[in-house]
Amino acid sequence: MTTSITAPALVRPEDPAYAAAVAPFVTTTAPRPDLVVEARSPADVVAAVGWAREEGRAVTVQATGHQLLADLAGSVLISTRHLDDVRVDPLTCTAVVGGGARWQQVIAAAVPHGLAPVCGSSSHVGVVGFCLGGGHGPLSRAFGAGADQVRRVPIVTADGVERDVDATHEPDLFDALRGGKTGFGVVTEMEIALHPVARLYGGGIFFPGEASPQLLHAWREWVATLPDDATSSVALLRLPPDPSLPPPLQGAFVTHLRFTFLGTAAEGAALLAPMRAVATPIADMVDEMPFAAIDAVHADPTDPMPIWDDSATLGALPAEAVDALLAVAGPGVDTSLVMAELRHLGGAIARRPGRGHDAVAGRDAAFNLYALAPMVPPVAAIAPAAARGAVDAVRPWATGGLPNFQGPAAGGRLGALWDDATAAFLAGVREQYDPAGMFRTVGLLG
Ligand SMILES: Cc1cc2nc3c(=O)[nH]c(=O)nc-3n(C[C@H](O)[C@H](O)[C@H](O)COP(=O)(O)OP(=O)(O)OC[C@H]3O[C@@H](n4cnc5c(N)ncnc54)[C@H](O)[C@@H]3O)c2cc1C
Repeated sequence: MTTSITAPALVRPEDPAYAAAVAPFVTTTAPRPDLVVEARSPADVVAAVGWAREEGRAVTVQATGHQLLADLAGSVLISTRHLDDVRVDPLTCTAVVGGGARWQQVIAAAVPHGLAPVCGSSSHVGVVGFCLGGGHGPLSRAFGAGADQVRRVPIVTADGVERDVDATHEPDLFDALRGGKTGFGVVTEMEIALHPVARLYGGGIFFPGEASPQLLHAWREWVATLPDDATSSVALLRLPPDPSLPPPLQGAFVTHLRFTFLGTAAEGAALLAPMRAVATPIADMVDEMPFAAIDAVHADPTDPMPIWDDSATLGALPAEAVDALLAVAGPGVDTSLVMAELRHLGGAIARRPGRGHDAVAGRDAAFNLYALAPMVPPVAAIAPAAARGAVDAVRPWATGGLPNFQGPAAGGRLGALWDDATAAFLAGVREQYDPAGMFRTVGLLG
């Protein structure tokens, strides 16, 4: 490539910098793109897409590698990880975020102004990938999905044109980008709304895994009583014997209840009281907390890891569904699952904002089940079956899935996550902006 892209932006498999340039968070397979373009400016992206179009090459995009959707082999990978500038405007309560920025960078820039983004459970996740896929986190029941916060999207499309897309400029592409996940181009920036949230009442409570039957049955009824500014999830965790964990959690089977509430600590404690009464905790870490500490709620892993994940949204969580999940992930079950997590959805997620058009999948779902098994010896071979088994257990209540919670198990079925009308709309927008399928060659969309 002899374009205006500046060295060392081009990285080939034989280059010493290749491993770091492709290194994903999810390390299940080693990504092997033919070429990496480490974009340091939108102009680099324009040049890379233009070259790939002339050469007839497939293009993939990676920011942090938190979502292993497909093999990158044979593609030109445009890495946006260096496009990580974040600018906050406290007057308009918005942030302009680079195409490879992580939530932790947005939080660091927003918190001094008493503002917070609608991020997910882990601030290590990339902003753009999260918002393109919908995006559900601790503030979503109060303020909507991540995609609902998006105001403007500068993007380089397959024709090599940099477009500034919003509700009035190329509105179909704008609607597709808010939830349509992939296949439209390389997002170089995203303008998102922030919210005046400086603190909350929240955290996690670790209960013994043996108490999971009582806890899950109580939880499914309790969440129905919560206001929209309260969010909860519950996870059955089989923790590793990791010496960095507190001793009672090392190698333990636990039930991890997560809770966030935007009202006062006293109101939050009153809301949480019925769950605190179900069992004796190993550790109760729910308290008044600054928004900057939001990662403590889920305590997601931050080191790269090989995993196999599977998931489904649920329309309801009756007692039979809880029993079915416990039968494959509860006490006494021999499983390689490290996590089976139920997230309560609804609230503002269920309400389509603004002009009433977007591509957020699963708005009407009440819950999301996310199952995760490690791809490490000796259990790697059974990881896919373990994760699929958890999803199959609740299949009678499944309504679909959230694009962000799909891994390689989704295969070419990603397109099935949207209702027929939205899927047809997304296909039409992809056909308009990427008729040759430059961004579609990753085998995701069936
Ligand atoms: C530990 C962990 C916690 C998570 N928690 C949540 C959660 O609470 N809620 C939730 O909704 N999701 C969650 N996710 C899923 C996460 O939102 C998705 O994995 C998301 O795609 C990650 O984006 P990324 O840029 O970090 O990852 P990447 O793997 O770099 O990107 C994933 C995909 O996003 C697209 N993409 C990313 N950047 C761009 C860009 N600049 N232009 C065009 N396309 C782009 C590409 O299709 C790419 O293949 C979590 C994932 C992990 C591993």
